[in-house]
Amino acid sequence: MPARHFRLGRSRTGLGVFATRPIRKRTRIAEYKGRRLNVDQALKAENRGNRYLYEVNSKWTIDGTGHNNIARYFNHSCNPNADTFIKQGRIFIRTLRNIKPGQEIVYDYGRDYLKNVIGLSNCQCSRCRKRRAKRAVELREKRKRKAARLAGKKKTLRKKSRKTVRKKSGKRAR
Ligand SMILES: [Zn+2]
Repeated sequence: MPARHFRLGRSRTGLGVFATRPIRKRTRIAEYKGRRLNVDQALKAENRGNRYLYEVNSKWTIDGTGHNNIARYFNHSCNPNADTFIKQGRIFIRTLRNIKPGQEIVYDYGRDYLKNVIGLSNCQCSRCRKRRAKRAVELREKRKRKAARLAGKKKTLRKKSRKTVRKKSGKRAR
């Protein structure tokens, strides 16, 4: 594996991995390292809340909790520029695109992780944040249109609400 292409840095969700020089696509940049766990051990670790388990196959899982496992700092993205692959029981991270210095390197953790650990509506990747921002704008526009529509009926609405208020206070007085 080539010398380090990246450094740790602050990201939106804590730490992340950022390119320090241009990296060509299809470059193997890191290995996901850790203790090998069998099925029982993996299950126990999962129940203890270990979020760094990576299943290699039906028998083995790698526990990437160790801080010397630099690969644990790659964040998730639904629009990744890297991915993982397994070769001879080892897990590696490689780039999917050409990456510029300063860019965060992210890979897709998979649907299960997104659903069960991150939460579908909590994803902080750039794609999800953009999508949510767009939706918020659309909602605001919709509300504005609705308000404009209602403005026409304002008079009748005001009359109606006054009536209800009177009725209610009348009841309370009794
Ligand atoms: Zn996302």
